[in-house]
Amino acid sequence: MTKKNYIIANWKMNLDLMSLNIFFNHIKFDEIDVNKKEIIFAPSFVFIEKTLNLIGDNTASVAAQNLFWEAKGAYTGEVSAKQLADIGCKYVILGHSERREFFNETDEMINAKIKLALKHRLKPIVCMGESFEEKEQGLTKKIIEQKLSACLSEISTGDMRNIIIAYEPIWAISTNVNNTGQSDTPESAQVVHKFLRKNLESLYDSVVTEKTPIIYGGSVDADNVGGFAKMEDIDGVLVGGASKESSSFQKVINNYST
Ligand code: PEP
Repeated sequence: MTKKNYIIANWKMNLDLMSLNIFFNHIKFDEIDVNKKEIIFAPSFVFIEKTLNLIGDNTASVAAQNLFWEAKGAYTGEVSAKQLADIGCKYVILGHSERREFFNETDEMINAKIKLALKHRLKPIVCMGESFEEKEQGLTKKIIEQKLSACLSEISTGDMRNIIIAYEPIWAISTNVNNTGQSDTPESAQVVHKFLRKNLESLYDSVVTEKTPIIYGGSVDADNVGGFAKMEDIDGVLVGGASKESSSFQKVINNYST
């Protein structure tokens, strides 16, 4: 089976107009094997259209970093799934640990957002991971199992064709208070990815289990990405800090080799 590889830049609330322009002036699309790698940029809402314009005819997609769980209405400050689809957004990151931590998002809210995204043909990138305390208590698998089934509640087998799961151990995210400058190891991430697949098998069927991309996020950089890429159940990476500058992100892309 050809492995799908997703390399996603989560720019969070970084990159202003000038740095966005500089980024795309320097990124070398012609170095990227687009048959093997799907590159996705996730800018702030306000720069989604600008990012699409800067990508131009090159092969890459754009993800939003969030959306609201209601279709439309009096929800000041929120952005709807349809609005994102209307402007050409293809993916949406949902359930990122920063949204869970700073905006109290629950699995139920994330599940509602996933459903609305799918209704508008946006492909959700669903993030989940354990905290430092949970890892210390040996609860990683229990937490992952709970989050996976709650986030995917009432999501059909057919809809799973459009979902990417992102395992992001919270303590491994470079900006997390418990991060010691370390990513998870590829070997230990592989164990969790395999466990996620086993859970998909019990929730769905063997096709979903085999085909659902499960990507890793947490302090991925040009030096460690090769190790993750080699793991059997790792189908890509979600990159925060190392995606902010074109030079480091280009190295992450180029060094991702299965
Ligand atoms: C993230 O927050 O999704 C992330 C992976 O960040 P970083 O690469 O900086 O750890």
